Amino acid sequence: IKKIAVLTSGGDAPGMNAAIRAVQRTGMHHGIEVYGVMHGYLGLYQNEIKLLERQDVANMLNRGGTFLGSARFPKFKEETVRQQAVENLRALDIEALVVIGGDGSYMGAKALTEMGFPCIGLPGTIDNDIPGTDYTIGYLTALNTVLEAVDRLRDTSSSHNRISLIEIMGRHCGDLTLAAAVAGGAEYVIIPEKPFDEEALITALGNPSARRKSHAIVCITENMTDTEALAKRIEERTGQEARATILGHIQRGGAPRGFDRVLASQMGVYAVELLMQGHGGRCVGIQSNQLVHHDIIEAITTMQRPFKQDLFNTFKKLV
Ligand code: ATP
Repeated sequence: IKKIAVLTSGGDAPGMNAAIRAVQRTGMHHGIEVYGVMHGYLGLYQNEIKLLERQDVANMLNRGGTFLGSARFPKFKEETVRQQAVENLRALDIEALVVIGGDGSYMGAKALTEMGFPCIGLPGTIDNDIPGTDYTIGYLTALNTVLEAVDRLRDTSSSHNRISLIEIMGRHCGDLTLAAAVAGGAEYVIIPEKPFDEEALITALGNPSARRKSHAIVCITENMTDTEALAKRIEERTGQEARATILGHIQRGGAPRGFDRVLASQMGVYAVELLMQGHGGRCVGIQSNQLVHHDIIEAITTMQRPFKQDLFNTFKKLV
């Protein structure tokens, strides 16, 4: 294998740059040219593909976001669009592609592999919602970012005896919310993996003496409910000030923490080595502290992500 390409797709995540750098440096180490595709699958279709030299990835390890850019490009589901993308790659004699992104991006990688163009997926998302890996690149950095916000909200909530609802990203995965609730000392957690009983929450919040404190932190995953409206209902029903804070894209920015830099570096090296061994249609993960690779189709269609019931039990014991 002489030439490969790398792209980032879907929502950005801290550590994506570290992964791109690792792919470029590993390629260089083995005498493989590495091309960077701008703006994910959109740039692949529009032929925005450029050779990455050593200096292109210098000083990138510690930078948040993705210097290649990312995009949502739904038209990539169309075969003719993907055909054009494959032609663009083949015109440059590129033989394989590393895709860094979430499960949607894996679908694109799967489709390209089925068209005879081998791809390797790396899990890049703060949501930690990808099967076949214990951690995704960006998740633990985002957890620290969320915790900074939770800590600040705790200060002001306790000063004002306020109920703080904190909406946390994760799409349909409660990992980030649950970990933030444990590490941030929240009183309540609302996550997609557990039924949400609004009445029970309001009843509990309306009884501060049972809670033995007058403020409360409630961590809630996005897409569960309208958090602003929930805060209003809580305020009306309990008579206690309640405020919603929607953390939003703040959670996606910032320099990657050490763990994510190490993870992204390890996964980037592994991806290139898998391609050198002739693997395609695989996705990389870390499970029980071991790098692993799975069939990308199985990962997104049949593999389940186990819910962290132990961590949920831990949370329950600590409130
Ligand atoms: P995040 O989890 O951070 O949102 P993601 O990779 O899941 O990341 P998506 O927007 O779902 O984000 O997908 C990224 C891109 O992958 C899409 O914009 C599209 O270009 C491509 N894609 C998604 N689904 C498919 C599919 N079924 N076939 C081909 N390409 C797809």
